[in-house]
Amino acid sequence: MVKVLICDPVDAQAVDAMRAAGIDVDVRDTITPDELKQVIGEYDGIVVRSRTKVRAPLLENPGQLKLIVRGGVGLDSIDVKVAESKGVKVMNTPSASSNAVAELTLGMMFSLARSLAWADATMKAGKWEKKKLKGTEIAGKTLGIIGYGRIGQLLGEKARALGMTVVAYDPYVHSTDDVPLDELLAVADYVSLHIPHTPETHNLLSVAQFAAMKKGACVVNAARGGTVDEDALYDALVSGHLAGAALDVFTEEPPQSEALHKLIALPQVIATPHIGAGTVEAQERIGDEIVALVREYLA
Ligand code: NAD
Repeated sequence: MVKVLICDPVDAQAVDAMRAAGIDVDVRDTITPDELKQVIGEYDGIVVRSRTKVRAPLLENPGQLKLIVRGGVGLDSIDVKVAESKGVKVMNTPSASSNAVAELTLGMMFSLARSLAWADATMKAGKWEKKKLKGTEIAGKTLGIIGYGRIGQLLGEKARALGMTVVAYDPYVHSTDDVPLDELLAVADYVSLHIPHTPETHNLLSVAQFAAMKKGACVVNAARGGTVDEDALYDALVSGHLAGAALDVFTEEPPQSEALHKLIALPQVIATPHIGAGTVEAQERIGDEIVALVREYLA
């Protein structure tokens, strides 16, 4: 019988579906790295989300392991080359959360445009700041999308339907929306990142890029921490050059440093704890895709 170990929380229906397909599933979704190292070789497949990191030492003795499934988009938590050199296939569920992230990004843009988080916080504090809360509209504005892959393109479609003009920068994907990065920064009212964090994209938006953006523009990052220089963003917001930022991802998660806490505390910043893929529908889709991958490669 094929044996699979679930190392992080996954949708319960996915576990049931694997068992119904005759797979012997163990759920140990609080397993520690030391515990995992001891048992990993007993399984044909393991399923991880973002909590469990599969680094080289874990893969020293992979035993009968043939498949690692990462429920989610990035593979940055897995040493893919090491796994593959030992004959272990690594798969993920890249499309399952695209809509959830695109919708969160739009929600963040609406929140920035109308200062919704601030309006709510001041109401809860017993204030009535109607006169101070004059917002702007999304329709008629330009959205600059950096990274025009699955999420970027879906966001572009939705933004167009809301009456926005869309421009995109992605050196590896060609579309009719393509513009050079400097042009995107110069024209966009909202700049949203949808790129992986790699050495090439590290601090892609920093001092020079913020200075090149329009005065009063906003930044949204629901991609990966490290793609935006957080110190430079703080300065650009405090100087008044940028009007706002919405951040779902950070260089430290959860944020620890004083600098990050200062950025998050700014009233013109909306911060969420990496909830991009956190919808009921996305979690169900991730579960369905995990089941399909396990069945395809192991059952
Ligand atoms: P994708 O691979 O489909 O698209 C990423 C795009 O970035 C690709 O088209 C690639 O060509 C482009 N790119 C790479 N380097 C670039 C550069 N230097 N400049 C501009 N573009 C560049 O990925 P996706 O599914 O659209 O996901 C995008 C990002 O969103 C990923 O980092 C992913 O990890 C992140 N994500 C976050 C959450 C969340 O919870 N906030 C959830 C899902 C995905």
